Amino acid sequence: MSRYLGSACKLCRREGTKLMLKGERCSSSKCALSRRNFPPGFHGPQGRPRQSEYSLQLREKQKAKRMYGLLEKQFYLTFLNAKKQPGDAGENLLRLLEMRLDNVVYRAGFADSRAKARELVSHAHFTVNGHPVDIPSYRVKPGDIIKVKSSRRRNQIFNGLGERLLKKKFQAPSWLFLDPSELEVKVLHEPKEEDLEKNINTQLIVEFYAR
Ligand code: SF4
Repeated sequence: MSRYLGSACKLCRREGTKLMLKGERCSSSKCALSRRNFPPGFHGPQGRPRQSEYSLQLREKQKAKRMYGLLEKQFYLTFLNAKKQPGDAGENLLRLLEMRLDNVVYRAGFADSRAKARELVSHAHFTVNGHPVDIPSYRVKPGDIIKVKSSRRRNQIFNGLGERLLKKKFQAPSWLFLDPSELEVKVLHEPKEEDLEKNINTQLIVEFYAR
């Protein structure tokens, strides 16, 4: 599976918003967007030009795609899947993105960015209902239990993670039940409208693909 290997911060600067791709650094003063809030490239410092309707739709699609760390084909296939489901296609799209295994690992606090979560899942650190799963796009279902493999709990990444999550009173979204001491998270139900990412205008994405 191919993935984007360029600078994550350039993506934020292109979209003009924090995509939170680098974990703790994103909330610190080192965030590139806080220091250089203009698009990358030679003409970047001249600021953002006025955007056409198409450009607004394209940028919103790119923002969502980059936030969840997907490439175009995978994102488009997810959109097609969302469109087939009953209800609002945009809302369905965000729900499908939220229910990816790598996103659940990120939401549960087991990784500080979706990119890191994707890497951890690919390295087979997790089980779903007791079975090892190493596919970041694996779609979880209500009732699923995602857990750090017992053989990996002494790994430097997970050693003391439960205590750290407890100490900082980490809160998983309401559709997940997190047990930090067991390094496990249960999917209670599908994310509701209020649980979905607020920073994405899905209507623009639907319009983009309807062209
Ligand atoms: Fe984006 Fe994080 Fe880089 Fe800031 S530090 S520009 S939020 S990836």
